[in-house]
Amino acid sequence: MEFSAASTSIQDIDMEFDKNVPRICGVCGDKATGFHFNAMTCEGCKGFFRRSMKRKASFTCPFNGDCKITRDNRRHCQACRLKRCVDIGMMKEFILTDEEVQRKRNMIIKRKEEEAIKESLRPKLTEEQQKMIDVLLDSHRKTFDPTYSDFNQFRPPVRENECRRITRSSSVNTQISLSEESDAFSSSPDTPEHAFFTNSLFQQYGDGHSPLAMGSNELSMLPHLADLVSYSIQKVIGFAKMIPGFRDLIAEDQIALLKSSVIEVIMLRSNQSFSMDDMSWTCGSDEFKYKVDDVTQAGHNLELLEPLVKFQVGLKKLSLHEEEHVLLMAICILSPDRPGVQDKVLVEAIQDRLSSTLQTYILCKHPPPGSRLLYPKMIQKLADLRSLNEEHSKQYRSLSFLPEHSMKLTPLVLEVFGNEIS
Ligand SMILES: [Zn+2]
Ligand SMILES: [Zn+2]
Repeated sequence: MEFSAASTSIQDIDMEFDKNVPRICGVCGDKATGFHFNAMTCEGCKGFFRRSMKRKASFTCPFNGDCKITRDNRRHCQACRLKRCVDIGMMKEFILTDEEVQRKRNMIIKRKEEEAIKESLRPKLTEEQQKMIDVLLDSHRKTFDPTYSDFNQFRPPVRENECRRITRSSSVNTQISLSEESDAFSSSPDTPEHAFFTNSLFQQYGDGHSPLAMGSNELSMLPHLADLVSYSIQKVIGFAKMIPGFRDLIAEDQIALLKSSVIEVIMLRSNQSFSMDDMSWTCGSDEFKYKVDDVTQAGHNLELLEPLVKFQVGLKKLSLHEEEHVLLMAICILSPDRPGVQDKVLVEAIQDRLSSTLQTYILCKHPPPGSRLLYPKMIQKLADLRSLNEEHSKQYRSLSFLPEHSMKLTPLVLEVFGNEIS
């Protein structure tokens, strides 16, 4: 191929060798197959050059040494054909020895084998695992309504908005640490959220009394939130029943698992409505937007709510896929170490299946950097839930101890969390 003086830039050359442009052998003008020994040639001239070089052949032109080589006459004068090869830039240094050819072939084979091994070692979800995920997603979607439309059927929320008595005694521990998450609670220290949070802290720790003991006996939010919790318990039960393997357990174990895990699963699933913008659970309209203050008006104090909000923020920051979220809830329910579980082996087997599905899912579906240490971080969340559960039980016991409070709960709540009076 003749290069015109103008086409010297790389771009021009690339364009000339574009797939659509016919490629012509620089030696004989036949159709070229690519670059061979440094020049664009046909297969015939490629072979001719290689053979000539290997044989160290020396040709003599039978004519006058300037034969014009064409596709049809290229066999007539080997001397001029070889001269043409050298003229267009073909170099014997580009010819591989037999040994080199063999080495190159072996390398290609080896690389292919390595790729095959790598591919076979790459974690993949088994058909069973994928099915498990599909079932859990479906179960969750059937039991979690992101429109929260049922909330209208609960006893309505009543918020006491009067200025709360704030006792700023000198014994106040103003440094209730919100630790590394503290900045997440408010963008500026002057936002209402922050003021509220601080006030709540004072209220809580100011004179050593819980809100319960501070005269807000009304617990105006209790009926609504009791209904909300009761409703959530039903939904969690519905979800649990659809977890593959759960119904293989004896009834007593199903009940034991649910009783001890349900509050943890409610905390987990509520993360879906939790918003880091204002640290609230936002379930549709403003009426169903719950801040820490609302929950204190249902009888809980900051010893539960502060770590609970921190938990929500930490969980939100993991940005779990819905697949991971539902697997985590299922793993939480199927914990063999819950009190009262009889067939621990079976529960553990089901939980193991869920855990390995989660680990494989993260490996093959969750891209870095989010996937980094994600599994251990999720397991840590389960540990956090245990302490939240413990604190909740403590506060529930003191709350339900008073008949005027327990009468505002629902039969299901009393059954699941216990009834101190009976
Ligand atoms: Zn040729
Ligand atoms: Zn010749």
